[in-house]
Parts: sequence; structure tokens; C-alpha cells
Amino acid sequence: MGNMKVTVVLPVYNEEDNVQPAYEALDKVFEGLSDYTAEFIFVNDGSADRSLEKLRELAAADKRVCVLSFSRNFGHQAALTAGMAHARGDAVVTMDCDLQDPPELIAEMLRHWRNGSKVVYARRIHREDRPFKKFTASLYYRLLGKVSSVEIPRQVGDFRLMDRLVVLELLRLGEHAQYLRGQVAWLGFSHSFVDFERPERIHGETHYPLTKMLKLAMDGLLSFSFSPLKLGLFIGLGAMLFSFVLFVAMLWYQFVVGFNFPIYKWLVDALFGFVGLQFIFLWIIGEYIGRIYNDVRRRPLYVIAERLNLDESDR
Ligand code: UDP
Ligand code: MG
Repeated sequence: MGNMKVTVVLPVYNEEDNVQPAYEALDKVFEGLSDYTAEFIFVNDGSADRSLEKLRELAAADKRVCVLSFSRNFGHQAALTAGMAHARGDAVVTMDCDLQDPPELIAEMLRHWRNGSKVVYARRIHREDRPFKKFTASLYYRLLGKVSSVEIPRQVGDFRLMDRLVVLELLRLGEHAQYLRGQVAWLGFSHSFVDFERPERIHGETHYPLTKMLKLAMDGLLSFSFSPLKLGLFIGLGAMLFSFVLFVAMLWYQFVVGFNFPIYKWLVDALFGFVGLQFIFLWIIGEYIGRIYNDVRRRPLYVIAERLNLDESDR
């Protein structure tokens, strides 16, 4: 393999103090990787600070620096997608530009890629985050792992290397509710991990406040699991069972023990039964909606990783 090209995609949202250090760190990493030509795509996601000016300066000074600037803030996942769509590399690395994803790892990731992994995830073995974030993240990943239809690797964020092939397939999905780490897992392909300890941000605050975090979490859960739909079934069955047991007990009391129930108590029991029935119908409707959702997002039926004696035009 001759000279390979590597694209690094970095979303930037109000990172005026981080852009320069991130660039310098990347520059240093690629100095040591003479077999590779680098390309750094910074995606300015509607920053309100001087990030864009800093990026302009970098792009003017170094041809490897490419900049895409959004008209407003469209979010981290959209920024990553835009960067990948413009990537020209044989391998594409996506990472934060706050140096929480150490650029030095790229060398190791490239080694894994050369050894045949189509996706190389950077896995956090330790994270320097607030206890609340650590706790909620671990709880969330456990839940997602339980209900998700594909296995989404744990302790893995959006710091990863992907082969060009994977990036093209990922872009082809074109789903609107984006949960890239789930989508990459969904695509399959051979993958491996590079472990690291996640440091704290060097400058500024996280741009993932609780609301954005919850949105991402919902996108992950709802795009990769239909389990929430099944809740109606369990609630419905529970209510109906309760109503039935109560009914039998009341019959027994009324006719064997000789206890006289007023009519409204019978009505309350019947109500339980009907509420249960409604939940069961909600579940059935939900199952149809799930199927509609599945069809409208048009995920491909399969993903091809390799073709022998057949190329894309032979279809
Ligand atoms: N980011 C972005 N748009 C947003 C929020 C964040 O492009 O709306 C970028 C941000 O500049 C950073 C990366 O996404 O490069 C990760 O964000 P952050 O570091 O705030 O998240 P955390 O590391 O705290 O999860
Ligand atoms: Mg960060």
C-alpha cells in the first residue's frame, strides 16, 4: 500500500481556545506518520465565539486544514456527518476538538486499520467526568445494551476510525434521528478497540447539556429498539389479569361467603378490565407504527463488505 490518505473530522462548537491546540497536536501526530497524507476537516457548527476566525487562520496557513461552516448550530451528529460526507481519505477518524480524544491514539488506530479492522473504536477505560455523567452514562449503556437489536459497544463515543467503505455505507443510511455510534454498530464490519483514559476538557465547558444529552439518548433508544412499544402489552396484560383475579375473588365472596358488593365495585373491576384491553390495543397500534417507521427510514436490507469477481456495477 502506497501513500494513504487519512481524514480527521472535528466538530467545532464554541471552541476558540481549543482549535489551535487540537491542530498542533494533530500536526505533531502526523509528523510521525510519514506514510500518510493527512486532511483535517473542521466543521464549525454555528459557533458564536471566534472559532471560525481561528479556523480561517489555520486554513490559510496549512492546506491540509479544511473548514465547513454551518449557518447555525445543527448539532454534533450533523457536524460529524457533514465532515464525513466531504472526507477524501481512505480512512476517516472522527474526534472531539477539545483534546478529550487524544490525537496520539490515531497512530495506534491506523495500525489496527492496516491489520484489517474496518472500524477501530477508541474505548474509554477510565473517564475524568463528573460522577453524575459517569453514572448516567453507565446506566444508559447498560439499558441500551439490553434492549438494542444490535450490539452497540460500551464505553465508546464518537472517537473512532472508519474505513472509507464504512463511511460510504454510513452516509447512505441517511437517517434523520442520528445516533452514529449505533449506526456504525448496525453496519457490522470487522472492528477492534484501542483503550484510553479520557482526560478532562482543556478549555471551556461541555456543550452537551442535559437536554442535548437526553435527545441523543432518546435517538439511540428509539432508533435501535422497539422494546418501548411492548410496554403497552405488559401494562395491558397486568391490568386484565388483576381485573380477572379480582372478579373471581368478588364472585367467591358474594356467592360463597355471602358478602354483598355494591354495584359500583363491580363497575370498578370491569373498568380495570377495559383499561387493560385498551393498553393491549395501544400495543397493537404501536407494533404497526413500528413497522411503518422501519419501512420509511429505509435501512438497507443488507450491507456488503467485500465483492469477489463482482463489482458494484454488476447489479
Ligand atoms: N459539538 C458540536 N455541536 C454541538 C455540541 C458539541 O459540534 O452542538 C462538538 C464540540 O465542539 C466538541 C464535540 O462536539 O468538539 C463534543 O462536544 P463536548 O466536548 O461538549 O461533549 P462531551 O465531551 O462533554 O461529551
Ligand atoms: Mg468533550
